Amino acid sequence: MELKGKVAVITGAASGIGLATAEAFVNKGVKVVLSDYNEADGQAETERLKNSGAEVMFIKADVSKEEDVKHLISETVKQFGKIDIMFNNAGIGILCEAHKLTYDEYRRVIAINQDGVFFGAKYAITEMLKTGGGVIVNTSSILGSVGEPGAFPYNASKGAVNLMTKSLALQYADRGIRVNSVCPGYVDSGMVNKEALGKFYDKLVDKHPIGRLGRADEIAHAVIFLCENELITGQNILIDGGYTAQ
Ligand code: NAD
Repeated sequence: MELKGKVAVITGAASGIGLATAEAFVNKGVKVVLSDYNEADGQAETERLKNSGAEVMFIKADVSKEEDVKHLISETVKQFGKIDIMFNNAGIGILCEAHKLTYDEYRRVIAINQDGVFFGAKYAITEMLKTGGGVIVNTSSILGSVGEPGAFPYNASKGAVNLMTKSLALQYADRGIRVNSVCPGYVDSGMVNKEALGKFYDKLVDKHPIGRLGRADEIAHAVIFLCENELITGQNILIDGGYTAQ
């Protein structure tokens, strides 16, 4: 698929994988709507891209709130005329043993990582059906396939995203909509970094056979590939430095 001139929406675009993917899309001539619930950083990054000549705009949305996502998609169509690519990327993680987890903590992870993908897909697909198709990419994780002690709601949400991806792909394949997910290993980002994690960071590095964590631009590269390649749908692509090969 030729990406030049397409319109993409990215949630969780203020930092990390979302921001790197916004940059990668811009380099391909895509018009990008950056969205995040962090308005200050999201606006600042959007301005930075705009100043380098990119066709971009920022729309604030908390993906756990259906009304916000509905507004994000309707505003995108109002401003840019259509939506071709939806990158459901916003996500959070918490580390806590399951028996100590409160229901609110559990629900918050599910609401953002899982419900957010539902809302993004629902409203983007509604528009894509009017224009004859599009591409959805969801950000899952290696932790959608393998367990991690202390990551109970995160495991639950990303496991759900993997099967939501397949379910949506099958449901809309005959109407020109492809749905895939990227499943990163640990990636240096706002969520995972040496400063925040200390010695745990080094333990994470040891789990990646290539001897380092991933970079956000390496995940962005896979998102571009999934958008461009028209034969791929219903796949959860692991980009993990060999983490899950062991
Ligand atoms: P990040 O913290 O750098 O970026 C996440 C972005 O999502 C932030 O800008 C944050 O403000 C935004 N966000 C969080 N909750 C939101 C909400 N309710 N509504 C809107 N925006 C919200 O981290 P990242 O690594 O770039 O994370 C992006 C995605 O990648 C997440 O889905 C995460 O689960 C997934 N992932 C990350 C790693 C990793 O190691 N960093 C590994 C596998 C998967």
